[in-house]
Amino acid sequence: MSAVADLLVVEDDETIGTALTSGLRAHGHAVSWQRTARSALAALSGRGFDLVLLDLGLPDLDGVELCRRIRSTQPGTVIVMLTARSQEMDVVVGLEAGADDYLTKPFRFGELLARVRAHLRRSAALPPSQAALAVGELVVDGAARRVTVSGTEVVLRTKEFDLLARLALDAGTAVSRETLMADVWDAHWFGSTKTLDVHVAALRRKLAACGTSPPPITTLRGHGYRLELPTD
Ligand code: CA
Repeated sequence: MSAVADLLVVEDDETIGTALTSGLRAHGHAVSWQRTARSALAALSGRGFDLVLLDLGLPDLDGVELCRRIRSTQPGTVIVMLTARSQEMDVVVGLEAGADDYLTKPFRFGELLARVRAHLRRSAALPPSQAALAVGELVVDGAARRVTVSGTEVVLRTKEFDLLARLALDAGTAVSRETLMADVWDAHWFGSTKTLDVHVAALRRKLAACGTSPPPITTLRGHGYRLELPTD
């Protein structure tokens, strides 16, 4: 990742905020640091950011609620939550509220940087030149980044799209968790497997909500997932 990215750090802890901000700036990113949810929302109303690092424990507003508000106005922004171990329960809620990923404190800066880079990189899960993949009534169009089921568009977030595209590429075949994490998130993943499961759950929910009969995503316990081919 060589292009400069616009990052927003929302963190009330001075030590962590200073370390994150100076470290990310040293790696060439433009960083805005906000210490409250209120000031973060103000910063977000003025411009878009490529990626938001969001502390869940803020003084003025629950981080999950802030995540929901950011997601509702900035669908294309990557949101990475920063959580304390005691907030593990909030992680799933946060992912469901629209976060793309999370890191548990304490984390090494190198780990955070690797995640940020992985998220900023354009996904390689499905090359844009790839012809649209059809699996039964499901069509995944990599060039348009568009998913339809029986002609009805299903609006997906970036990682949900990438995940479905990766499964569709090997439809009818088991795809391991490791492969999905590597191809959709990063080759050097540090292991937040909840992220994968929550994204699969969201995908299933959105595909089911389109009212037709999309191919199911089968859980292969201890291995991974499989997008089923039509049986007839
Ligand atoms: Ca905090």
